[in-house]
Amino acid sequence: MNLVADLHLHSTVSDGTLSPAELMRRAAEAGLRTAALTDHDNLDGLGEAAEAAASLGIRFIPGVELSCGGGKEIHVLGYGYDPNHAELASFCREKQQERFVRTARMVEQLAENGVRVAYDRVLEIACGVPGRPHVGRAIVEAGYAGSLKEAFSHFLDPGRCGYVAKKDTPVAEGVRLLHRAGGVAVLAHPMQLKKSHAALDSLIGEWAKAGLDGIEVYHPSADAGDIPALLRIAERLDLLVTGGSDFHGREVKPDVAIGQGLERWRTAEKDVLLLTERIRQRQGQRSCYHTENME
Ligand code: AMP
Ligand code: FE
Ligand code: FE
Ligand code: ZN
Repeated sequence: MNLVADLHLHSTVSDGTLSPAELMRRAAEAGLRTAALTDHDNLDGLGEAAEAAASLGIRFIPGVELSCGGGKEIHVLGYGYDPNHAELASFCREKQQERFVRTARMVEQLAENGVRVAYDRVLEIACGVPGRPHVGRAIVEAGYAGSLKEAFSHFLDPGRCGYVAKKDTPVAEGVRLLHRAGGVAVLAHPMQLKKSHAALDSLIGEWAKAGLDGIEVYHPSADAGDIPALLRIAERLDLLVTGGSDFHGREVKPDVAIGQGLERWRTAEKDVLLLTERIRQRQGQRSCYHTENME
């Protein structure tokens, strides 16, 4: 299968199970021409992924998935920003530090509810910055759940005993930060917000006023009925349309392959072009701003 692009991929730098280079190798194997690495609150995989993508002859877009909305779990994808932007890097570092504290609290809360997993084991599984999938894998390993899916539905989904919300970064704040870094901001997997199409229309309308650039219409969470509704929202609000599989690797999302569901993205060629044009515009605005400031 020849796919145009997958703009939502996770590596071991956050909660995926393939290294950034291996991920790019698999993306090339899957026939992708453009790939974006979008680790949660983390930019550390960019260099390795960009280098691998270049040697494989696929186009690489630097990405990130910012955790916004606190307990509402609203994710904002950023594309094409300056990877050396100090404020974006320090925002990510803060989110990473918070993840260690939050994981320790999740482990405590689980223990209070009779689910005993070792914090150190979670860190070992994470091989870096921890997230809920790493806690979930430790829960499965310790025999409290039969699968990661079950670990989430019993213990880790919002409202369950092991869940701890992240600090609430409002979506508008995430969007403005990405813009300051010269990037483009796209709402990840809108259907995961579990809202009606009408409610999404008004929510996304508010975020569009705050500068949101686009929405991830093509994602495994959107079914055949959701896609036309999301496309109408994008059109009404003049938003970019993107697509991504949200691939994490077999151990985290066994039913999601690279490029999953993206054969439905018939306008990918045009949409990726519009995205890259917007990225170029943003970077241009930024360099003008810098030049003005230097004068
Ligand atoms: P965190 O950012 O630490 O709150 O973890 C959120 C991540 O958990 C998401 O990006 C997914 O990778 C993963 N996740 C959420 N729900 C599930 C689920 N039901 N099964 C497997 N992974 C999940
Ligand atoms: Fe994830
Ligand atoms: Fe997400
Ligand atoms: Zn994701």
